Amino acid sequence: HLYKEDYLRYLAKAAGVIRGNKEYITELDSATGDGDHWLNLTIGFEKLLEKSKEWESVTYQELFQNIAMTMMSAMGGSSGVLYGSAYLKTAGLLENRESIDQGLLGEILQGWAEAIRSRGNAELGYKTMLDAVYPAASAYAKGLEEGKDSGECLRQMARAAREGAESTRDMEAVKGRASYREDKSVGFLDPGAVTMAMQLECLADFIL
Ligand code: ADP
Ligand code: MG
Ligand code: MG
Repeated sequence: HLYKEDYLRYLAKAAGVIRGNKEYITELDSATGDGDHWLNLTIGFEKLLEKSKEWESVTYQELFQNIAMTMMSAMGGSSGVLYGSAYLKTAGLLENRESIDQGLLGEILQGWAEAIRSRGNAELGYKTMLDAVYPAASAYAKGLEEGKDSGECLRQMARAAREGAESTRDMEAVKGRASYREDKSVGFLDPGAVTMAMQLECLADFIL
């Protein structure tokens, strides 16, 4: 079970992972985009950590709403809007819930994927962060369906996220700045997919 305090501790860990990969992430977005993806995420996470002290007495649902609003307003770029939509859409799943259990985590992951798909007007294979979060949500759901335990579901989810991010290398970008290039950024990883996978792997590690 993941309580609200745990979720805040997970966010702090994820922030650390992103912060520690400055050169790599900046390099990825410089190759196919405008180079600010690391900065956007870092500003978003710093704001979350700063505000999380004020969020000790809010409900889990309000926490997700606050995360959404903070990411949307503090982060620049497409990623701020997309993360904001993901948290906003899944906040409702936390109504009257004190913790996130195995089943609810599956619903949240699918909610994130669905929100990013609809807000970004993206589909699988468009070379975006959806190519990491969607397979991750599906792998987790498949594990649940097959009656696998929480650990196995999480390992499957993290592996799918990583492989999904890796799979963007060969894709032609259809959405986002990477699609403005004549070569459609084939041969390069999508930065948003890589950082999404980093966060999902961090979440799995945190719970495991
Ligand atoms: P910007 O491209 O506005 O500078 P960021 O650099 O922070 O924003 O984020 C770029 C990432 O956002 C991309 O690598 C991609 O994963 C994701 N992205 C961009 N546009 C879309 C979209 N329409 N749908 C889904 N994801 C998108
Ligand atoms: Mg960018
Ligand atoms: Mg930008």
